[in-house]
Amino acid sequence: MSEHGGPDLPQRRLLVTDVPGPNSIQLNERRRAAVSSALGAAVPVFVDRAGGGVVIDVDGNSLIDLGSGIAVTSVGNSAPHVVAGIRDQSERLIHTCFMVAGYEAYLEVCEQLNDLTPGDHDKRTALFNSGAEAVENAVKVARSATGRAAVVAVEHAYHGRTSLAMALTAKNRPYKHSFGPLPGDIHRVPNSYPLRDGLTGAEAAARSIRRMEAEIGGENIAAIVIEPIQGEGGFIVPASGFLPELSRWARDNGIVFIADEVQTGFCRTGEWFASEHDGVVPDLVAMAKGLAGGMPLSAVTGRADLMNAAHLGGLGGTYGGNPVACAAALGAIATMKELDLNARARHLENLMRSRLGVLADECDIVAEVRGRGAMIAIEFAEPGTLEPVEGLVPRVAKRCAQAGVIVLTAGTYGNVIRLLPPLVIDDELLIEGLDVLSESVKEEVGR
Ligand SMILES: *Cc1c(COP(=O)(O)O)cnc(C)c1O
Repeated sequence: MSEHGGPDLPQRRLLVTDVPGPNSIQLNERRRAAVSSALGAAVPVFVDRAGGGVVIDVDGNSLIDLGSGIAVTSVGNSAPHVVAGIRDQSERLIHTCFMVAGYEAYLEVCEQLNDLTPGDHDKRTALFNSGAEAVENAVKVARSATGRAAVVAVEHAYHGRTSLAMALTAKNRPYKHSFGPLPGDIHRVPNSYPLRDGLTGAEAAARSIRRMEAEIGGENIAAIVIEPIQGEGGFIVPASGFLPELSRWARDNGIVFIADEVQTGFCRTGEWFASEHDGVVPDLVAMAKGLAGGMPLSAVTGRADLMNAAHLGGLGGTYGGNPVACAAALGAIATMKELDLNARARHLENLMRSRLGVLADECDIVAEVRGRGAMIAIEFAEPGTLEPVEGLVPRVAKRCAQAGVIVLTAGTYGNVIRLLPPLVIDDELLIEGLDVLSESVKEEVGR
């Protein structure tokens, strides 16, 4: 294993062609002829290999990865323990369907998640394939356990693209537009967005609770679904006290508090789960992205009385908790423990904050640098206002890609750059990536 825990790829930014290069251009032509045009792409390259903090494209360009495939390859791409787990498992058993016959790797993942998620109460877990599927199953569990129908989500939320998940998602384009009718009894209340609402956590919680009491009634609500730090919405960190107050009110009213930790989980924010920063113990936790080192696996973990409430056969799916994906998850979790990736995420936060703090001082178009751990975003607004800057962020991201750095965009108003580096990225490589980003912003705003 190399120093950063990944396969032995040179950890450097190196461009040998334009981005995209000729091989990527050719594959993009085949893509246009074969793949639905409804799928986007953040970077116009096709990838051959990746590891540590770099992605090598099919033209031999080595790009700095500040996206981790959207917070998935936190342990690095093709991380050794993940690869070993996949190899061993795939040589013995690839599939039974857990509802047909069991296998030990499924149990081991459930035991690990019962142990790692917040709270030391009696827990149970069920495994699925994607984040959206985890969220949907958490809602099914909550509705079944409470006998109630209403589900509450907050402004700027993102919970996935399946029918119920997109109804819980706030943003219309691209997620919901033209895909209705959406499922009913989904209600939206304000979140806590300190930059834009200026409220304390207690004030923001009181506002949301007042809305739920007036418009839905606590006794009709099965669940509140919330990301402890909003991902797609732009890494919005709620004001201190907001989540504890909301979860206290949920408990008092028999409402299931579901933390969607799909993006924030597994060391991303410097804790195993972002709920821990606020001392919140969710009733149910939905997990996916970082869980299995790049393999498709998701989970719902929570209170045993809730997880056991639905009828026999009520939860499941053909592929959920696939043996190879479970083996990958066990390898990923072992890597997180072995390399202490929580400490690493906090270290990366310091690096990103100090570098981007300089950018914020130099550029009055930076409204805020925020986030936790290795989940840091820049929100752009017209100087002296909170008016979202239009069109800037895609241009900055494109400039970064052309200079060999992958960054992702976010935000309801499309005015946020989000950084989700692999937690095993070398310091120097991250700093180089941040410098390219800072330069790209300055070039775009003409300063
Ligand atoms: C990505 C994401 C989802 C959806 O996960 P998929 O695996 O894409 O279905 C749900 N919730 C949050 C917070 C996410 O970031």
